[in-house]
Amino acid sequence: MADAIQVTVWGEFRHEKSHEAVRKVYPDGMHTVIAKALNAQEGIKAKTATLDEPEHGLTEAVLKKTDVLTWWGHMAHGEVKDEIVTRVQQRVLDGMGLIVLHSGHFSKIFQKLMGTSCNLMWREHEKEHTRLWVTAPSHPIANGLGPYFELPHEEMYGEFFDIPAPDELVLVSWFSGGEIFRSGCCFNRGHGRIFYFQPGHETFPTYYDENVIKVLTNAVRWAAAGCCPVVRGFGHRPVPMEKLD
Ligand code: ZN
Repeated sequence: MADAIQVTVWGEFRHEKSHEAVRKVYPDGMHTVIAKALNAQEGIKAKTATLDEPEHGLTEAVLKKTDVLTWWGHMAHGEVKDEIVTRVQQRVLDGMGLIVLHSGHFSKIFQKLMGTSCNLMWREHEKEHTRLWVTAPSHPIANGLGPYFELPHEEMYGEFFDIPAPDELVLVSWFSGGEIFRSGCCFNRGHGRIFYFQPGHETFPTYYDENVIKVLTNAVRWAAAGCCPVVRGFGHRPVPMEKLD
């Protein structure tokens, strides 16, 4: 049997401490709920790391052992140290998978890897629901999904989403207020695979949803597949492979 995929589930873990409405949904933090859901899947081992741990829980040793990192942040993006962001970026370029969740669109690491503002439209309304349409049914991240799935409560994120054109677009969301959003986007950066996934507003129980867990599990497996030993061929190459004269 192949070795288990090593996942580090990174959580900012601030809303859960300061907002009662969030604590009610995620008493031990949403990172623990995501890690538990991933640990229930065959061939995946998930651990957690949070902002307030030394080096945000993302030491060289932790990242070296991580095949896929998931990232949820919102109110404290600015507190993430630049040196840690650079460290994560380097690991992605070397082949680590990265799954950026919901408000992680404004994280330093996502902006750095995209090179754009990653800005969007948003609205939080208790009656808003969403339908996520699969736009790439043969993609591994869509494995086991129907033509669409719905979430009864989710924050609206709307276009224009200021990202580079995704290398593959797996999901597009419709919101009941009328907007649409590219909600499941794949990118390749260096040797690493990146997936942005829109659902996950902190006051809704999104990370308990069966289809959301399915997407996360598929995304972990897809992103881990990019995590191969790095073989590079950069620089001056004076000796050709074939004889030229
Ligand atoms: Zn939100």
